Amino acid sequence: MKKEFDQFKPSGSRLTELSSSKDDISFCYEALKKVSRSFAVVIQQLPEELKNPVCLFYLILRGLDTIEDDMSIDNVVKEKMLLSFAERINQEEFVLDNVGDTQDYRDLMLHFDKIVREYQNLAPKYKEVITSITHEMAVGMNKYAHKIVHSYQDWNDYCYYVAGIVGVGLSKLFVASNLETNPLLESKELSVEMGLFLQKTNIIRDFAEDFEMGRVFWPEESWKDKAKSLYELKNGNQERVSALNEIIINALSHVPNCLKYLKSIENQQIFRFCAIPQLMAIATLSKLYNNSEVFYKNIKIRKGKTAKYFMTVENYEATEKEFISFLRKLEKKDKTLKIHSIIERLIK
Ligand code: CA
Repeated sequence: MKKEFDQFKPSGSRLTELSSSKDDISFCYEALKKVSRSFAVVIQQLPEELKNPVCLFYLILRGLDTIEDDMSIDNVVKEKMLLSFAERINQEEFVLDNVGDTQDYRDLMLHFDKIVREYQNLAPKYKEVITSITHEMAVGMNKYAHKIVHSYQDWNDYCYYVAGIVGVGLSKLFVASNLETNPLLESKELSVEMGLFLQKTNIIRDFAEDFEMGRVFWPEESWKDKAKSLYELKNGNQERVSALNEIIINALSHVPNCLKYLKSIENQQIFRFCAIPQLMAIATLSKLYNNSEVFYKNIKIRKGKTAKYFMTVENYEATEKEFISFLRKLEKKDKTLKIHSIIERLIK
């Protein structure tokens, strides 16, 4: 297991150096390791046919996100860059100089032509999916550039654009490959919830880190009746833990549909690709529940546990069992009975 992880350690060299020694597709996988090691590991679970489409899908969306996150770009310029992105990847081998708020991201954008060339080599059935999702995400990013996430409803909508549609895109890629045929995968609702569950988990976990950056993504509705400001919430006492538990329960409400999605997957490799992040997410949430450390540090799952989850997700039954065992443990700590009702929805 450790060997498998070490293999995906990002290279010690900068992407700029690698860009001259690697061919385009090897560069893409080096870039993937730099920007998301965990995704680089999970993608290796996929059947050969899907590895490149999913890798390029991820890198293209990462490119879009790099533009969105760069606060030094003028808003009008940024809007144009985002909205023209999906068209540009189909028309020209472009690079963006000086875009990105870390060295790795700036390097990624500086050699983006390599990613675009590989993307253009994909079968049209994959390119269509990637183009349409990329454009829809750009539209959503613009919508939320000037909008605050007040209610849980807004939160669902925001997470839909940044993650829900990624779930939709992945399902479409699976179906396009003919490796999956279940019409449930094409029902938008379940795919969206797969993305929402992962995104909400990250947003909850990243409170402390995002607070430092001045951009917490928790909806106001989750804490406004408990504290006057995020600063007050962070430094509060029992109130902040009850806000935390409430927002975690909101994320957990997606679990029954995530399991329904996982159950409908036929290909075992695709199943592992989908199930590993979901299991990591529920493991993370169960570690965050009742845990006030969330407000001042980044809580991570230990490597040994991660290895265990990789082995658990061999099939649906084992994965479902693991999910239920997490929920059962949380149920005991939850006086509101909401987790109990999530379990009821699951086992009915
Ligand atoms: Ca972003």
